[in-house]
Amino acid sequence: MIRWSSALNGFVELFYPRLCVGCGRKLFHDERFLCVECLSSLPLAQVHESADNFVEQHLYGRPYIESATTLMMYEKESAPQKIIHEIKYHGAKELAKSMGSMLGRELRNGRFASVDMIVPVPLHPKRLKWRGYNQSEWIAMGLSRELGVPVRTDLVERVVETSTQTTKNAEERWSNVKGIFSLKQTVQPRDLEGRHLLIVDDVITTGSTLMACAAAFSHVNNVKISAASLAAVN
Ligand SMILES: [Zn+2]
Repeated sequence: MIRWSSALNGFVELFYPRLCVGCGRKLFHDERFLCVECLSSLPLAQVHESADNFVEQHLYGRPYIESATTLMMYEKESAPQKIIHEIKYHGAKELAKSMGSMLGRELRNGRFASVDMIVPVPLHPKRLKWRGYNQSEWIAMGLSRELGVPVRTDLVERVVETSTQTTKNAEERWSNVKGIFSLKQTVQPRDLEGRHLLIVDDVITTGSTLMACAAAFSHVNNVKISAASLAAVN
């Protein structure tokens, strides 16, 4: 059976070769999503243990976020940008999960080791229906696999659909997203007291979406909130 399925895979690959998300070259059998070269040259941020790192600097003020980090540096035309594009617009859910695992392995020891639940930034139900999946939830699943803590999609919801953020400055983005998330009605704030939540998004640009999501927990006493993304703009 195994032999038959690998023969079938070989046959399928002859006509539909799997291509590297970073550079577009044909992948070898043991490569997944990225070729060895692209994988080894990913611009990893490596700021997980640095307090006051560039991700945290995006998140100053407003709701208090304990620690924040990212897996990669986001730049135009870079491998991270292509990865995010695949995840967001081409249904690459397994890629999202795999990148989430890569991040999770880096967060197992240190400031993020005390996280006890992972909260993907929710999409508005309309957007979710259109896209079919929440990319942040798939990243969260990869993180969950490595950190051994659950993904909680039952805590917070997006109550307002926002227009695209790309042309707005940081201040405009914040007023655009403030109040767009709220705790679900079924959540008892008391149950979250003393917990350490890790809010997960695909990309951090100004940090306003993450802060808006964190703000949904502002009525929970003694809750610790951290944040992580696959890529972040410096
Ligand atoms: Zn490549």
